[in-house]
This record gives sequence, C-alpha cells and structure tokens, in this order.
Amino acid sequence: MSVPLLDLSRQYAVLQQELESALLETARSTHYINGPKVEMLERKMAEYLGVQHATAVSSGTDALLMALMALGVGPGDEVITTPYSFFATVGAIVRLGARPIFADIDPETYNIDPHEAVARITDRTKAILPVHLFGQCAEMGPILEAARRRNIAVVEDAAQAIGATYQGKYAGTLGTIGCFSFFPSKNLGCMGDGGLVVTNDPALAERLVRLRNHGAKPKYYHSLVGGNFRLDALQAAVLLVKLPYLEQWTLARQENAAWYAAQLQRQGLVPKYVKPPTTAPGCRHVFNQFVIRTPWRDQLMEHLRKRGIGCEVYYPRPFHLQEALAFLGGKQGDYPHAEQAALQTLALPIFPELRPEERQEVLRAIVEFYEEQIGQQSKEQKTKQNRSAA
Ligand SMILES: *Cc1c(COP(=O)(O)O)cnc(C)c1O
Repeated sequence: MSVPLLDLSRQYAVLQQELESALLETARSTHYINGPKVEMLERKMAEYLGVQHATAVSSGTDALLMALMALGVGPGDEVITTPYSFFATVGAIVRLGARPIFADIDPETYNIDPHEAVARITDRTKAILPVHLFGQCAEMGPILEAARRRNIAVVEDAAQAIGATYQGKYAGTLGTIGCFSFFPSKNLGCMGDGGLVVTNDPALAERLVRLRNHGAKPKYYHSLVGGNFRLDALQAAVLLVKLPYLEQWTLARQENAAWYAAQLQRQGLVPKYVKPPTTAPGCRHVFNQFVIRTPWRDQLMEHLRKRGIGCEVYYPRPFHLQEALAFLGGKQGDYPHAEQAALQTLALPIFPELRPEERQEVLRAIVEFYEEQIGQQSKEQKTKQNRSAA
C-alpha cells in the first residue's frame, strides 16, 4: 500500500458540492476582484482570529513583502529572522534591500531561539520576523517584550500555523502584523495562491489596503508604491467554504500526530532512533507538518520512498548557505542547530484525511527500517568482536 504525503482529492470529494456551487455562484456574479466574497472572507478571518483588521492578499509571500513594506523596511535596515524556513521568509527582506540577520533555532521546536534573536538587536533593527514553523508558534514572550521596549515591529510568518495558539492567542495576532498563506498544502488552502495580512493597528491596516492596489487612494492617485497584491474572488469563495472545517481538520491532524508519537514510543524508537515533534509549553500545535528527527534521515527517506510512502525534507538547506544569499557571507557552522535540522528532519504524512491503515503502514515501514538498521549494526559489531578475538 502506498501512502501519499498529502492527498487533497479526499477533502475535495467531501466538499465537492459546496465548493462547486460557491465557485459557480462567484463566476456568475462577475465580481472577480475584491467585492463581496473577499470582504466576507476578511470579516470571517478577523472574527476567527480575534483581530481588528484582516486584508486578503495574493499569497503568503506577498503578505510578508507587504507587511515589511507597510513598516517602511528598506536599505540600511536589519530584520532579524530564522535561517530555517521556506525561502519566502528571507526573500521578502532581501527584495526590499534590507539585511536579514539570522538567529539560530531552538533544536527542540525548530523555531527561532528567542534569546538568540533578542541578542541580535541593534540600532538598525527595524523588525523581528519569527516563523511559526510546522504549525507551532515560536517562543514569542521574550521577542515581544524586547520589541516593545526597543520600539521594533514584530512580523509573524504564520503561513504554516493558522489556528495555532501561544498563551491562548492565535498565531499571527501576537505581533505587529501577522502573515498567512492559503497555498493549497497549508492547513487552510485555496485552489491556487492566496494569503492574508492581519493587524490591530488601524494606520498599518490602511497602508496594507493601499499597498495591495499599487498604493492608490483614491483610485489613480498614488501616495505609495505598492503592487497588485489582490486576492481573486474565486479563491475567497473557496476559503469561505473551507473555513468552517478548519477546526475539525486541525483536530484530525493532532490526532494523527498523537498516534504517531505514541506508537514510535511504544516501538522503543524514541529517543535513540527517532525524535517526534515537541509541543512547547503554552502552545497549541496544529501540525501543518509532522516532522521527526533521525540521524539516519537520508536512508530512512529512501526506505520509505521505495515503499511508496510520501515524505519530504523541510528544508534541506538553511538560508545562510543558499546560493542566492551568498552575498551575505554566511558559511557552514554559522547556525549549527539549523544546519543539523536540515540534515536530520523528515516530514511524514499527517493530513486530516489520512486513514488509520495508512498511518499504520507508515509506522510499519519505519519500524522495519530500524530493525534492519539495528540488525546490521549488531552484525557489524559481532564481526569486529570476532576479528579482535582472533
Ligand atoms: C508557504 C509559506 C510561505 C509562502 O506562502 P505562499 O502562499 O506560498 O507564497 C511563507 N512562509 C512559510 C513559512 C511558508 O510555509
């Protein structure tokens, strides 16, 4: 039995009627850009997250770019962020001519180490950009406190963490601006690209709305240089259908995660062979990914793939070692925790519609791999012992 890393067709099958009638209705309405569907989505998202202003945008990448633009980030500014995330995080900083300053990750959660982040604040720091990686919030307390004291903005990359909470507050609503992605593989995904920016600051909210449409207000009078960062009404229609299901999908992801963690433990693989994800105190983890750590990552990945089990490395190369960022002068050894995570982590199938027999199959393949591995090791040890005895 092969097991996909993600199968969106199962969700589509359940929602087919609802989705198709929403799409058709929107198509027939001829309101394709902004309009009632987008406005309704913004209202529903603000309500769900408990935030004052939500602006639907073209993608998670654009959400990050717009957030930094709204804060006036540009040449000469520094933005502190993690070296271990999807490239969009750092891309937004570099595209605006600002300098990313990396702070290594916490090896338990893979999120930015807040003390490392705070230690890198200088007079040039314009913003701190923590990422809530894999569906769990970064440790925001020390970051928020230092930012408040020094009057620095905090932009949250919550692309993987819709519905996650930190001390009871939703990811994306903790800092100055929160950024979300509706890329199809995220916990709440549309049928293409989409994103959201949220804030409780009315002046920033107004700038974000203006930036979304080339900085125009009124139409054809441009007080800012923005872009076309709008969301299609069709995507808003899809998201309006899906939002009411987000909570039950999150619970299904958490149930799968708890099952894997318990079974890996029961098989005696933890902690020597496999480290399951850690949920930090005060955090609600929504498992956009279920990421294990193992020193035999590449071999395990090959073993799983041979058996048709979907798995993926998020991410194989940290930012400071990316070719496009060589001008920053990063080198091997600069951020050892990020580098090690890039070598040792592997994401397993965790999507809400994953079937019990499928996760059982994933577990079986993992156990089989380590049995072979351990068997081989003890054989090698015996040969060594025999040799030294001879
Ligand atoms: C997906 C993702 C983004 C970018 O979102 P898009 O909608 O694909 O542009 C940014 N940051 C992180 C951490 C992501 O996972």
